[in-house]
Amino acid sequence: MAKAKNNTLKLKFDSARNYAPAPESKSVAKINPRYDLFINGKFEKPLSKKYFATINPATEEKLSEVADANAADVDKAVKAARNAYDKTWKKMPAKERAKYIFRIARIMQERAREFAVIETLDGGKPIRESRDFDVPTAANHFFYYAGWADKLEYAFPNRKAQPLGVAGQIIPWNFPLLMAAWKIAPALATGNTVVLKPAETTPLTALKLAEIIQEADLPPGVVNIITGAGATGAAMVNHPDINKIAFTGSTNVGKIIQKAIAGTGKRATLELGGKAANIIFDDAPLDQAVEGVINGIFFNQGHVCCAGSRLYVQESVAKEVIRKIKDRLETLIVGDPLDKNTDIGAINSKEQLNIINRYLKIGVAEGAEMYQGSGSIPSKGFFCKPTIFTNVAQSNRIAQEEIFGPVLTIQTFRTDDEVIEKANNTPYGLSAGVWTDKGSKIFNLTTKLRAGVIWANTYNQFDPTSPFGGYKESGYGREGGLHGLYPYVRLV
Ligand code: NAP
Ligand code: MG
Repeated sequence: MAKAKNNTLKLKFDSARNYAPAPESKSVAKINPRYDLFINGKFEKPLSKKYFATINPATEEKLSEVADANAADVDKAVKAARNAYDKTWKKMPAKERAKYIFRIARIMQERAREFAVIETLDGGKPIRESRDFDVPTAANHFFYYAGWADKLEYAFPNRKAQPLGVAGQIIPWNFPLLMAAWKIAPALATGNTVVLKPAETTPLTALKLAEIIQEADLPPGVVNIITGAGATGAAMVNHPDINKIAFTGSTNVGKIIQKAIAGTGKRATLELGGKAANIIFDDAPLDQAVEGVINGIFFNQGHVCCAGSRLYVQESVAKEVIRKIKDRLETLIVGDPLDKNTDIGAINSKEQLNIINRYLKIGVAEGAEMYQGSGSIPSKGFFCKPTIFTNVAQSNRIAQEEIFGPVLTIQTFRTDDEVIEKANNTPYGLSAGVWTDKGSKIFNLTTKLRAGVIWANTYNQFDPTSPFGGYKESGYGREGGLHGLYPYVRLV
């Protein structure tokens, strides 16, 4: 009998990893061998004459090569955006502008499958996530802000909202299409024109978005999409004719940008890093909380600015929670991002994998206890096993610094005050999660945790109507919701 029981248990875990492959077809993904810069409504050869490759991090195969815009290319894109702003976009009646934004949203929905596959190929995230989260949420952002375009007088009663001019927008590699939508949609709705730079490792869906913009027949120059590395971003930040910088990325680069624009009159929003606390009280529904913790840290391989990377469990339930998390690690499938069964895809780049592996070593050297499930990872491509650390001290680097990978630190606490102090003891302040049956505890914590977004009994919920952004070194400014309109307008 005991033997049968063990077999059942073993079978359960094995079967979770041995589903027959269910790969999404790559045939819908039309990727050109080479992409130029999207400037003034056309794909133009870069003045730099340089290109660089973008690869599939799950296979290390080259997908395409994209232009490397230099300062002269940036200048050309900014001139196109300025011209479109002065001659067409700012003069266009708001309800006409809205029609274009609605059109972008609808075409994105029509081409959703293609976008999901390309997002997964270029960045390594599981197809389930790009299909069910990234692409639909990106389309929703366009729908939502299209709705605001001709209603700004209701957003800002008794004030007149004027556009700022040309927005320079720089985005990271973790949600490439979604971050492009977060940036472009509110800028267009408020009458600004745009120069957008995607991240070096994930430029393809932004270039596909350029195709949608052509198809939607936007006036040339209203949206310009230029590819390149950090130097291209820096050239945008330093361009004298950009009125506003919208940046999402690391705190380090955020600081460089803030210094560069000091005294220039350029407006900025900085959406930076995070090290979120996910807090489980002993009265929480534990199975539900564990699911929230798993989703909070392993969604998108942990490449999430608001990832719940620090778990605080009330001492009386810590043993049970850690056991449940370890059980759950056994059932997580790490592998081919195009497979619909995959829970955890590829790490976005070799550089990022090296950073994560370095933190795993640091954690062990600091005296924390590392645990990984028994499942395997593919031998080719950049993969990392989902990892948890117990026996973690508050001062450990793995509990203080953003790892941006599938790595969770677990600590315990006894009282509300203790966990509030520990949760707030970080330079970041982007997000947090609270799991408890008691409404009063939720209110107590949400008012005392210094984080821009706090989820209660759920995690990683996003909606275009809801503002998102940080405190402290997680940056400033809000994206999403009515609040997301403010950074793009001058109120008179
Ligand atoms: P990153 O290195 O700061 O890069 C972000 C973007 O800035 C990329 O397009 C990058 O180009 C560009 N860039 C690099 N150096 C620059 C410079 N000196 N001047 C102007 N632009 C420059 O960040 P990442 O590693 O791509 O992204 C991960 C970070 O983003 C994490 O810290 C994460 O928490 C944060 N993030 C925050 C949010 C939020 O909403 N708060 C959302 C998502 C991600 P290259 O790609 O070519 O280097
Ligand atoms: Mg890539």
